Amino acid sequence: MNFAGAPIHVAIVKLAGFTVILPLMMSVTLQAAALDEAALEFRTFPEGPVYAHELNHGLHISDIFLHNLAIINKSAASLDVHRVLFSVMSSETVLSNRIMERDEIEASADRLYRNGQYGVFERLPELFGHDQMFGAGEELSATPLLEPKSALLAIQNYFSFQGSADALRVSVDYALGADPSQMRTATFSIPIKRYKSDNVYRMPLKGRWFVLTGPDIADHHRNWQNTEFAYDFSRTDNGGSQFSKQGYAPADYYAYGQPVFAVADGIVEKAIDQFPEAPLRMKNETVAEYQTRMSDRMNENFANNPDANYGNIVVIAHENGEFSSYTHLKRGSIRVKVGDRVKAGARLGDVGQSGNSLKPHLHFDVTLASGRSVPVEFTNAHSLDGETLSRLLKTGEFISAE
Ligand SMILES: [Zn+2]
Repeated sequence: MNFAGAPIHVAIVKLAGFTVILPLMMSVTLQAAALDEAALEFRTFPEGPVYAHELNHGLHISDIFLHNLAIINKSAASLDVHRVLFSVMSSETVLSNRIMERDEIEASADRLYRNGQYGVFERLPELFGHDQMFGAGEELSATPLLEPKSALLAIQNYFSFQGSADALRVSVDYALGADPSQMRTATFSIPIKRYKSDNVYRMPLKGRWFVLTGPDIADHHRNWQNTEFAYDFSRTDNGGSQFSKQGYAPADYYAYGQPVFAVADGIVEKAIDQFPEAPLRMKNETVAEYQTRMSDRMNENFANNPDANYGNIVVIAHENGEFSSYTHLKRGSIRVKVGDRVKAGARLGDVGQSGNSLKPHLHFDVTLASGRSVPVEFTNAHSLDGETLSRLLKTGEFISAE
């Protein structure tokens, strides 16, 4: 009998003194499929597709971030997760694979469970979306052995690939109870899309600027769904320094106090102008000491008043359900109020150092109504040679805008 490579399940039955081997493949397979569908449920935050970002146009290399994936045991039995396989797919072709083996799953479950005990997920719904991913009674498991209603979380998974991908497939191998001979596989597929805005945006700044952070491989914005494609803009002198004098005062920085403009027509959705400039590194303070001080300050803000980390901010609602936001603005500089209609190019306020900012710069982002960050291009961004940059800007490049 040829089962074309499929696993063969047999039952050995004693029948009237003879031993008969019965093929049971069909019934076992159907049973497994029925169990798989119901046993593990997959949810993502944000919901919907992940957005591909082009890393290298010529080589067709792109990357994606899967920010939050929950794998929830919906069955009445305990299920033991042994392996998670992520595959970036182009129809049925695998472009790249990543495996989380048992020890990595164990370490991740332990770490995230303890983060949960500290209330990290509750306090930061815009980053982790737990209130949207988990229902009543569902909670994180501290180990890969999932009791009913308990879940594993996979956060900040990054993939790069060559070619055009259309799905990220997740395959989870798990055992029923603690019995590794009863292995099953559940799979889940997340669409991969390219997001292209229909809106036309101008640069929020004029003159020559330095892209301190763009939506590239390893920057601090891409880790989070609400800042994934954000930019940080700063200014330098011809020698590449961002400040004159010592850089101990905001006014030492070339970016500080520069005007910020609306990127398109819209209505002011948010305008907060109440936060002081964040401290800069002091004389006699090492960079490491300063970073620790600022990181403590950020955590304190997350616990008490998360808005204090954004600082002074303007958000404008545009067509097609998109919003532009301008963050870390200088206190006292904001010239618009909620409900104002603004035109593209209207002056909103000035670059500042409020919120969680290590040096004066503009943090700029376009998001959807859900708060999810999306890629944005600017019609009037040019290279210093005058070439129009009809693409996302890259970390470390100098640009100019009129
Ligand atoms: Zn930023």
